[in-house]
Amino acid sequence: MDYQKIRRSTREICVGAVHIGGDAPIAIQSMTNTDTRDAAATMAQIRALEAAGCDIVRLTVPDLESAETVRLIKESDIRVPIVADIHFQYRVALRCAEYGVDKIRINPGNIGDEDRVRQVAQACRSRRIPIRIGVNSGSLEKHILEKYGAPTPEALCESGLYHARLLEKFDFEDIVISIKSSDVYTMVAATKLLAASCNYPLHLGVTEAGSQRMGTVKSAAGIGALLCDGIGDTIRVSLTDDPVLEVSAARDILSALNIKGQSGLNIVSCPTCGRTKIDLISLVHRFEDAVAREGLGHVPCKVALMGCVVNGPGEAREADFGIAGGVGEAVLFSHGEVIRRIPEEEIIPTLIQTLKQYKG
Ligand code: SF4
Repeated sequence: MDYQKIRRSTREICVGAVHIGGDAPIAIQSMTNTDTRDAAATMAQIRALEAAGCDIVRLTVPDLESAETVRLIKESDIRVPIVADIHFQYRVALRCAEYGVDKIRINPGNIGDEDRVRQVAQACRSRRIPIRIGVNSGSLEKHILEKYGAPTPEALCESGLYHARLLEKFDFEDIVISIKSSDVYTMVAATKLLAASCNYPLHLGVTEAGSQRMGTVKSAAGIGALLCDGIGDTIRVSLTDDPVLEVSAARDILSALNIKGQSGLNIVSCPTCGRTKIDLISLVHRFEDAVAREGLGHVPCKVALMGCVVNGPGEAREADFGIAGGVGEAVLFSHGEVIRRIPEEEIIPTLIQTLKQYKG
């Protein structure tokens, strides 16, 4: 999909060296789950996320003590942009801005009087630090909840705009907004309303999405539905698991949508049937493991693993290359054309070797 052709037009903001919105690629985010006061553990996890291809890393900064870890990170050789996630504590936001954090996630309506909002807006503007407003269906403002009676999509959208207006009062417009809900339908409907009501870039995510399996499915449904409509500039998959898995899940969603210029490896495989001539289920698992081991998940390529020679190459004509199973062997094909036969034990090494040629 050429996302730029259908993409909603937005402002473009900078989070360190990473751009969000405009024509910029969709940025993948994740969040550390270490105790932020433990600088060594937090920095180790940030490095692991960076190595996994995460574009932006967020960490919770609940107090001034945790802000010291932000200082250490910004003084280190860590280059991935860092977002400080702050609730209520405007002084923590000011401190993180002073330490050069790359973005702050804070809801200005939750930090007290207007003077505090002004101070945060000024500190961020003077250092070109953008602010993400993060609306969550579990923490709607009282006055909005009373008006709508429940965290409806309209209520969530109004909340996002309410926080944005508070910053706009102080001429601050380097804003990203997210509306999250654990209910996929609510998150999608609210984000669509917001997309139609402002031109700020949007951060997409389904919150409290669950385990690796269900969290990935819910995120793919919610984030995917919006991306298909051209809505979304940065994404986070939330999993109750190792944050590194969130990065690969996010990349898989972008790959599944074949978003031009951002897709990594797209493995397609047939569902198997009575014609299947090879243990395709095991083969796909082994290929995925080998791809992960070799660090080839980012290679922009479509690879097909098909169960039979009769229909496989034709059905997978769109694939850059692939194999179709025979008895004790397979054929290697490219765009539907058979290239050569390969013995069963050489299937995985051949696929990996061929994939490396696409690495560039
Ligand atoms: Fe069945 Fe062959 Fe189609 Fe796979 S490619 S589903 S084995 S017909």
